[in-house]
Amino acid sequence: MTSSFPASTVLGYPRIGPRRELKRALESYWEGRSSREELEDAGRRLRADTWRRLAALGLKGLPSNTFSYYDHVLDTAVLLGAVPERYRRDDDLATYFAMARGADGVAPLRMTKWFDTNYHYIVPEVGPDTAFSLDSRAPVAELREARELGLEIRPVLVGPVTFLLLAQAAPGSPPGFRPIDRLDEVVEVYSELLAELAAEGARWVQIDEPALVADRTEAELDAVAAAYGRLGGLAERPGLFVASYFGDLGDALPVLAATPVEAVGLDLVRGRGPKPGQRPGERDPRWDVLAGTTVVAGVVSGRDVWRVDRERALAALLTVREHAEHVVVSTSCSLLHVPYDVGAETHLDPELRRRLAFADQKVGEVVALAELLAATPEGHVPAPAPEPAPVAPPLPAPSRRSPYPVRAAAQAGHLRLPPLPVTTIGSFPQTGELRRARAALTAGELSEEAYEALVRAEIERVVALQERLGVDVLVHGEPERNDMVQYFAEHLDGFAVTRHGWVQSYGSRCTRPPILYADVKRPEPITVRWARYARSLTDKPVKGMLTGPVTIVAWSFVRDDLPLRDVVFQVADAVREEVGDLEAAGVPVIQVDEPALRELMPLRRRDQDAYLEWAVEAYRRATSAAADHTQIHTHLCYSDADQILAAIDGLDADVTTIESARSRGRILPAVGGFSRGLGPGVYDIHSPRVPTEEEVAESLAEILRVLPVERVWVNPDCGLKTRTYEQVEAALANVVRAAARLRGTV
Ligand code: GLN
Ligand code: ZN
Repeated sequence: MTSSFPASTVLGYPRIGPRRELKRALESYWEGRSSREELEDAGRRLRADTWRRLAALGLKGLPSNTFSYYDHVLDTAVLLGAVPERYRRDDDLATYFAMARGADGVAPLRMTKWFDTNYHYIVPEVGPDTAFSLDSRAPVAELREARELGLEIRPVLVGPVTFLLLAQAAPGSPPGFRPIDRLDEVVEVYSELLAELAAEGARWVQIDEPALVADRTEAELDAVAAAYGRLGGLAERPGLFVASYFGDLGDALPVLAATPVEAVGLDLVRGRGPKPGQRPGERDPRWDVLAGTTVVAGVVSGRDVWRVDRERALAALLTVREHAEHVVVSTSCSLLHVPYDVGAETHLDPELRRRLAFADQKVGEVVALAELLAATPEGHVPAPAPEPAPVAPPLPAPSRRSPYPVRAAAQAGHLRLPPLPVTTIGSFPQTGELRRARAALTAGELSEEAYEALVRAEIERVVALQERLGVDVLVHGEPERNDMVQYFAEHLDGFAVTRHGWVQSYGSRCTRPPILYADVKRPEPITVRWARYARSLTDKPVKGMLTGPVTIVAWSFVRDDLPLRDVVFQVADAVREEVGDLEAAGVPVIQVDEPALRELMPLRRRDQDAYLEWAVEAYRRATSAAADHTQIHTHLCYSDADQILAAIDGLDADVTTIESARSRGRILPAVGGFSRGLGPGVYDIHSPRVPTEEEVAESLAEILRVLPVERVWVNPDCGLKTRTYEQVEAALANVVRAAARLRGTV
């Protein structure tokens, strides 16, 4: 029934456009500057360019339906008819963007991280009454679009199990209801879609089930067996290729292999490759279940920017070939997570450039490996891949810090703060003027001196504003930073930054992750002169502002020749030097932000404690050189801080500020036992709305019901850089007044 799978493929490809064409098209449409037709034209062009490019690079199996106007999980919700009533509009595109971005006073659907990547998806809502039906024919239409270009493509769908496991129960669902309870009905819609795809000529369809690389219950694995048993039993359907990625299938592998699915995708970069020391081609009993199955072998990483190690990749392919019916060379996951083309980075050191592979280079590697595999005779046994040399564990960093009560006393004498001290998280509004000045500086159109004068003027403005409002611990406002990670990467050895290396974060938003490619060193102090300048402008305590080692690494592409832990420790040592220099410059409070502490968390529970242990250790390495009288603050900004409270406690910061405005009900009960300073955010900075004094006072009163007054700090949820000065001034004035009012009552 099914034809054989093409010899080389990728699981997906970037969609934002090599020059962020989609971003521009979207933003212009949202602002009413262009029509729906223009937006759709841009989409069609991007899809056609992608397929033509992949074909030109020699790839045999071209994926489709990897394009999206916003997010592929949202597309799946729309495809299945899972559109909550409150978002429904006459115009389907208006409905779509209302779910993604909110509209007419209706808040958007929640957004969260796509597994352990820096991509964010829209969380679908599924309730007991969600009426599933095949509501979009986009994947079918793309088959026709490609055929007109003379190309054959393979539609890619988010799998039914992953879709439901990622969905949240719709508001008002009965207790105990889980979206996965609706699997049978959802599978019916997939059946209908598969029949339509087959009728339109699709020979294969790729169904992504990354949720299967995390821990799954027996019941969930039974659901997988049932779903793919049902889809596999359809009379009219394309060949089924179920892709897994971001890890190892574990117990889900035999379950999938026992279904009628013809092809299974394995991530051989993050998942288990051949065992160390295993001879290529040597049979591996773990893979015996793959007999009779096509294996789409993900040997080229879709998560990093490094060239593939050909020997290792070939060894993995030969081992798989011993077991499988047929082996297809592929990427470990979609290339969504890497930039388009390293060829555009002409400014990079040629030696570094030779080590790099972005999406197009990775496609080339897949094609070359497929040719190599085809040319390697059955039974050929190359030498086993060498085992990586063991690396010495980093030396422990000496700590200067006494137990918290001793430090707290030293700091109280040093800082002389009132009860309920008011502070902010660091950044103040990034004005258009500053952004333009930075661009002009990069383009060589503005002198270093002129730029620095602007930064100093901005610091003066921020300090004066905080003094006028009566804030207790002042910040300089971070006007010199484009981004809290990139700024440090630009000032540390061992990092390179790209010009065009944009990666989609969500919707039209992209980030340009720095590349950490060598040993990290701090050639000279980075932030000290700005902190010192702010200090010279006021008698109030000024807080120095740094990004923590885990966050710097989490938001970069990282070298893969050292264990991640050791790389993070190197960055921690650089931050430690900066902490020391800030302290020596007389900065009495130093904040080391770790908003990404959770982001590197392994997907499998068995690996999580070990990770948290070294992540916490890295933070302490960065901060434990501070003297007792220096107050260390940290900031974490996600609403589920309650889930890693023990780790946050382990950071041993003197003051921790956390986002809580949108999740107070969960956070507050959890933090009652927290033993050091804590500033649960008193208002949500994500909204342009200015909180009233009354609202802030209520938030504070609520906080004071669970925490003793001597531990409470008063601060917004996060940095203020996306707000306007008008909003910030009004909001902070109300925060200061509310704090003063509560000081009078406690
Ligand atoms: N200090 C940073 C700021 O205020 C923290 C940002 C963050 O938490 N993501 O912008
Ligand atoms: Zn934050």
